[in-house]
Amino acid sequence: MPKQTPASPSAGADAASPCDATTAECPLPKVWVWDPPHTGARVRFVNLPHDWDPANNGADVEMVGHVEPRVAGESVTFNLIGHPDNYLEGQTAALSTTTITTGANGVGKVTLTLPAYGGSRWKVGGRTATMAAPAQSGEITVWRKVFYQVTDMDSSPAPENLSLAHPSDMISALQAAFDPVFIKIAASTKSSASTPYQAHLTAAQRSTLESSLRTAAVDDRSPYKMNIVMCDRADIVAEQEWTAAATTADVATPYFQRWGHEPTVIHAQYQKSDGSWAPLSAVSTQAHASSTGQERVKATIPGFAAGSTVNVRIKYRYQRGNAGGWGGTTGTLFMCIGRQRRANAAKPTGAELQQALTHEIGHALGLVPNAAAWRDTDPRDAPYSLKHCGYKTAATPAQPRCVMWFMLGGSGARLRFCSSDRPDDCAHFLMRTSYTSLSWI
Ligand SMILES: [Zn+2]
Ligand SMILES: [Zn+2]
Repeated sequence: MPKQTPASPSAGADAASPCDATTAECPLPKVWVWDPPHTGARVRFVNLPHDWDPANNGADVEMVGHVEPRVAGESVTFNLIGHPDNYLEGQTAALSTTTITTGANGVGKVTLTLPAYGGSRWKVGGRTATMAAPAQSGEITVWRKVFYQVTDMDSSPAPENLSLAHPSDMISALQAAFDPVFIKIAASTKSSASTPYQAHLTAAQRSTLESSLRTAAVDDRSPYKMNIVMCDRADIVAEQEWTAAATTADVATPYFQRWGHEPTVIHAQYQKSDGSWAPLSAVSTQAHASSTGQERVKATIPGFAAGSTVNVRIKYRYQRGNAGGWGGTTGTLFMCIGRQRRANAAKPTGAELQQALTHEIGHALGLVPNAAAWRDTDPRDAPYSLKHCGYKTAATPAQPRCVMWFMLGGSGARLRFCSSDRPDDCAHFLMRTSYTSLSWI
């Protein structure tokens, strides 16, 4: 049926419509509509190269929609819509343009550039001149993603045959600590390997092992990849220099916990009358008569003259403690599980391991900045490491409340990155940091 024609202009509101949509003068409203997948809520891994997964990776998101009816040459205005809860510390999103003209089939595009800030949420509004309000795109939440490989150490030799394989729930437990800081832990292309048994790893052995494993671990997710290496033990060695003004020929240090993995004595010297230092003689270690694992260093001052006083110095290694894990910024993390597993074959569980693992990954992600406001300032920790989080609760006595505390143990807040002192807490450090240029494996 042909369209009706108003009988006269006096027909009022009806006079302006209907009209013929095929004519250029048609005043029919044009409506901006977002095209899938820009209509739904999504996450975006902003730190990873776009080319790896264009639909999900990269800070730049090309947002596409069209006008209906589908006509070219229509002007569309865009606006950025940040979620009211966004906490950004100076970062923000941006649009490539605020106005476009639709092309063939009424299609239009604008590029949304997301900030690095993990957890921030964004939409884009699009409207034509005749729309009362913008059409909002689906919400995009900023995430970051890193990849992992797990390297199990072979079992200890018979007859012990102690398994050093990782617990099956290790990664799922780990993810629970990284969800709150919007970092996805994903299996890498090469995600598993094994390495021969070693009873103990010194710092030098860890370095050697890391280098050899790194070569084989490199894959198409490098350098956004970490290697979680399970091991038996990698205890903590420390060095101490004992000094004395000796009045006898035979001298001895106090007893200390023996370090059996490298030579105990680093140097043992006495000061000659001309002020220079020379080696002591008869340097040896002597086990404590009753305390297992304790020993001391003994030595003799050559040519000692009775009644004289001679300066001596003996520098030695001793075991300071047992490490749960070792990490760093290189992307290789050592998890020491031998002790727990010898005590209980079902231990450690993924949940138990996640504290040490989260802590080491925290280091690998740049925690904790060595600023006075951040680090644990307890003098007790000065010789150990200053790069740990000192946040504690307000309770009496104050309790540590962060996984970046320098010791293992505890539960609840001790399993998570602290987040209650933004911006200067561990969670917000992780959320604001751009991880586009990780240089792990
Ligand atoms: Zn640490
Ligand atoms: Zn913290």
